[in-house]
Amino acid sequence: MTDSDLTGQTVLVTGGAGFVGSHLAESLTDAAEVRVLDDLSNGDAADVPAHARLIEGDVRDRATVREAMDGADVVFHEAAMVSVPASVEAPMDCHGVNGTATLQLLDVARQTDSRVVLASSAAIYGHPESVPVPESAPKRPASPYGVEKLTNDEYARVYAEQYELETVALRYFNIYGPRQTGQYSGVISVFLDQARAGDPITVEGEGDQTRDFVHVDDVVAANRLAATTAEPGSAYNVGTGSSVTVRELAEIVRDVVGADVPIEHVDPRPNDIQRSCADVSKARDELGFEPTVSLRDGLATTIA
Ligand code: NAD
Repeated sequence: MTDSDLTGQTVLVTGGAGFVGSHLAESLTDAAEVRVLDDLSNGDAADVPAHARLIEGDVRDRATVREAMDGADVVFHEAAMVSVPASVEAPMDCHGVNGTATLQLLDVARQTDSRVVLASSAAIYGHPESVPVPESAPKRPASPYGVEKLTNDEYARVYAEQYELETVALRYFNIYGPRQTGQYSGVISVFLDQARAGDPITVEGEGDQTRDFVHVDDVVAANRLAATTAEPGSAYNVGTGSSVTVRELAEIVRDVVGADVPIEHVDPRPNDIQRSCADVSKARDELGFEPTVSLRDGLATTIA
């Protein structure tokens, strides 16, 4: 258990103009010196907190990364091409950003002696055999994106074991919250936009797919715990430990928005994951992680 105190530290948030990264940067500026490295391909400079220094650049560029990491105690690596369909369309491009750039960042961290907390994903588990999914579950990613996240997750472990680099991989489940407005935003922001516009909410397939939706504030808390744990070198699921069906989600969104809109079913997404739910007991036991935001409360604050 740690107190997640980063007072006086220098931290770098890659992808800090994006959804998760901007919330993380915001939570750190009171106590730490915060740098953000982002190429603004899917982020917005306006979302970088005023007290953070924005370095506009590409995580693929070693010199830029080296300079941004100079003197950094902790690097939170959030930058990525986050679209699963884009990774299927252009796996080589995606691998450059998600795969090679992450390996390079770990390598630079050996020089700068920075702790690296990196954004892994539930996508590494592919179609889980059973839920909730513990960290030890079989890993059979269903997309290039998932393969890249799994590779990063494994590199983080190997860098910890081989080079004694302090690394923690956080396997995010489905994150939601304010500012999730990028081009590849999740199902919650799509449903919220539809309900608020008075349009039908469109559910892909039967809507019986389950997802574990975790609020971005809880993801920020997990990152802070990972940055300060006395025992780095591991990977942790970050979710809530419970799930809802997509159909239930549509109904909750409609209810919270107070919109009298129909729920329509459209064609299922090919190869969609049927069941997803995190077992968060390892993060709870080892990091002291405790998800605090219920789906209804989180949706209400997202709308506000
Ligand atoms: P996001 O797109 O909002 O943020 C990613 C940021 O990275 C963007 O600001 C983008 O401009 C930046 N970026 C992209 N390519 C870059 C490059 N080459 N150089 C520098 N910056 C670059 O996405 P997010 O939802 O905040 O995701 C953050 C991390 O969490 C990602 O690594 C993502 O794969 C992972 N993740 C997210 C979720 C989720 O539900 N949002 C789930 C699992 C994992």
